[in-house]
Amino acid sequence: MPAKVYHDKDADLGVLKNKTLAIIGYGSQGHAHARNLKDSGCKVIIGLYPKSKSKEQAKKHGFEVYDTAEAVKKADIIMIAAPDMKQADIYKKDIEPNLTPGKTLAFLHGLSIHFGLIKIPAGVNVIMIAPKGPGHEVRSQYLEGKGVPSLIAVFQGGKEAKKIALAWAKGIGGTRAGVIETTFKEETETDLFGEQAVLCGGVSELIRCGFETLVEAGYKPEMAYFECCHEMKLIVDLIVESGISGMRFSISETAKYGDVTRGPRVITKDTKKNMKKILKEIQSGQFVREWSKEYKAGLPNYKKLLAAGEKHPIEKTGQRLRSLMPWVSKTNIKGVQAAYSDAK
Ligand code: NAP
Repeated sequence: MPAKVYHDKDADLGVLKNKTLAIIGYGSQGHAHARNLKDSGCKVIIGLYPKSKSKEQAKKHGFEVYDTAEAVKKADIIMIAAPDMKQADIYKKDIEPNLTPGKTLAFLHGLSIHFGLIKIPAGVNVIMIAPKGPGHEVRSQYLEGKGVPSLIAVFQGGKEAKKIALAWAKGIGGTRAGVIETTFKEETETDLFGEQAVLCGGVSELIRCGFETLVEAGYKPEMAYFECCHEMKLIVDLIVESGISGMRFSISETAKYGDVTRGPRVITKDTKKNMKKILKEIQSGQFVREWSKEYKAGLPNYKKLLAAGEKHPIEKTGQRLRSLMPWVSKTNIKGVQAAYSDAK
């Protein structure tokens, strides 16, 4: 059965009236939720650790900023917008001692709860509001009168907790686009799978593999970049707008024939076998155990692999070509940082 989609009319912002909302963390998601909720008329305060780099920005945007424990004490609803691997420590040190029954703890991603890294006592509502887009998009869509489609889930607290989750989703603009109810388990496992196998891991490897194949065959890196990276966005935009069949409507017959006959030779049954293995590692908790261990060890492998990625020849070629087309770089990393540090 298709999932029910909630819109503005299904959510009551009044549920958040006379409540204090504390957002712990003021990064990608935190700044967007805080500013959208404030613009929607809610009382929002920010919780951060004493030496946080984000403090100045939050103050510049007009928020009262407190140490996390103090913010939790003052708030009725607390959203953890800090990195996933730091959440368990923040919870133990600053949140748990100040959490009283009737308060609501909200998450942006289900990982800490689903894998049991944080255990919350009964009597406290536990909800999730997860926009399906990065923070700068959550903010910019809201400012344009639109919204990013979002997921909500209730782990503890029943119908009252669901009303709070829907109201929060409305306050950030999510119900303008549509909100779907899920579970912490479903959101966590599908989100991790999507980013590992398709969106981040899968796409990056596909692009680099195509680029290397052309360059190793003697073609110019610029040609390889345009064919295997730059044009990716054009095709993905078509898919997002009208589906895979819709995209095929817009490409040439030759491209379509190559697509349907060669695509399955690149992404093979073995690829799917590997995807299933990756999903099993997520479901069994193996991935989270590995990631927690890596985090606690100071991220040696993570840093090494990211540094190697930055040295890949596609980065240099891409940088040069993008500098010739500044308009395509409006969401580059500097642009994104500027988007959530400007005083819009
Ligand atoms: P982020 O951009 O890395 O920001 C993290 C924020 O938390 C920063 O303001 C950071 O301060 C602060 N922080 C770090 N340690 C803290 C501590 N001990 N106490 C209080 N605050 C602390 O994080 P994010 O990407 O928004 O991720 C937050 C959550 O959103 C995660 O659960 C993630 O899975 C989820 N999510 C993210 C996205 C996304 O697009 N990024 C999308 C969907 C869901 P400093 O500036 O001082 O480091």
